[in-house]
Amino acid sequence: MENRYPRVEINLAHLQHNVSRIVERCGSYGIQVAGVIKGATGHPEVAKAFDRGGAAFIASSRLEQIEDAINAGIEKPMMLIRIPMLSEVKDVIRLADISLNSEFEVIKALNEEAKRQGKLHKVILMADLGDLREGFWDKKEMIDVAEYIENKMINIQLVGVGTNLGCYGSISPTADKLQELVDLAEAIEERLGRELEYISGGATSSLMRIWDKDIPKRINMLRIGEGILLARDLDVFYGYDMSELYQDVFRLKAEVIEVKTKPSYPVGTIAIDAFGHTPEYVDRGMRKRALLAMGKVDYGDPSELLPLEEGIEILGASSDHTIVDIEDAARDFKVGDVMSFDICYATIVYLTNCRNVNIAFV
Ligand SMILES: *Cc1c(COP(=O)(O)O)cnc(C)c1O
Repeated sequence: MENRYPRVEINLAHLQHNVSRIVERCGSYGIQVAGVIKGATGHPEVAKAFDRGGAAFIASSRLEQIEDAINAGIEKPMMLIRIPMLSEVKDVIRLADISLNSEFEVIKALNEEAKRQGKLHKVILMADLGDLREGFWDKKEMIDVAEYIENKMINIQLVGVGTNLGCYGSISPTADKLQELVDLAEAIEERLGRELEYISGGATSSLMRIWDKDIPKRINMLRIGEGILLARDLDVFYGYDMSELYQDVFRLKAEVIEVKTKPSYPVGTIAIDAFGHTPEYVDRGMRKRALLAMGKVDYGDPSELLPLEEGIEILGASSDHTIVDIEDAARDFKVGDVMSFDICYATIVYLTNCRNVNIAFV
C-alpha cells in the first residue's frame, strides 16, 4: 500500500525552511514562535521539522498530537492552545507544559491535578478582544483571576496573556488591537507587581504586523500554523509578499480512474445530489472529463483543491469521487495518470486526518 493514492506529499526541507524564516523574522522583533502543528494533524515528522526549524514551543489544540510529538522525542515545551476540557485535565498536566485558559474553574482543576502529579503548570490567560471565540470578555474578571492564580495557586504559574483574532469574528489584528492586549497585560502587571513573561499576540494573521513593521513592542510570542505550513493566506487574501517562504510544502496527488467525453448537463430529471443539494449545472455541450479516485471524505470541499496544471476545472465531488473537466487540459490524460493539486489549509486538515490518504515525505 506504500505508493497508493490519494497521496499527500510533504516537503520537509521546505517546511523546515519556512519554520526557520518565520522564527528569524519574529526573532528580529524579540518574538518567540509557538509552532502550531494541528494543520497537519500533528504528524510527528511535521512536528520534528517545527522543532528543527527553531520553534520555541510545539503547539496543538489536541493532546493526542502533543503526545505524539513527545513520543517522537521532541523536547521543546508543549503548548495546548485550545481551552482544556475539564475531562482532559489529567492529561493536560501530564502532557502539556503550558496551556491557554479562559475559565477559572478549569484553572482550579489544573492546579489540583498539577498538585497531584507534583508539577508546575504554566498558563496564559486569553483575552477576547472582539473575535468572539475563546477568552475573557470581562477584563476585570481576567485581572481578578490573574491575581488569584498569583497569590493562591501553588502549582499554576501565570506566565502571560494572549489573544486570538481572525478565527470566528474575522477581526483583524491591527496594531490597535494588539496594543489593547499589551495594555491589558500591563494592567495585570500593575496588580501583580511584576512583569509577565509572555504576551501572545495571535496567530498567522498577526504576521501582518511583522511584515508592516508595526507590531507593538511588548508582543513577544506568536502562535503560527498556516503561515509556516502553507504561507498562502496572507499572500492570497491580503496581498502580502510571502516569497521568502515555500508555498509548496504540501502537494496532493490523485489517480485518474475514468476518462470519457460526456454531456456537461445531467441527463434526466434533476433531483438532489449525494449530499441533499441541487447544484447548478451549466450546459457546455459534450466535454472530456476525468474521474479521480478521491472525494469529499478525503479532503472536505472540492472548491479548495487547486489543480497545478492549466486547463483543468473541478466540476464537483461525491464522497469518493472527484469529477474534473479536462477538455482544455494541455496533457492528454489517460486512466492511471496522476493529477496534482495545491491545497488550502482546511483541505490539509482533512487529508492528513484521513486513513485513506497516504502521507509521503519528499
Ligand atoms: C489554530 C490556532 C493558532 C494557529 O493559527 P494559524 O492561523 O494556523 O497560524 C494559534 N492560536 C490558537 C489559539 C489556535 O487555535
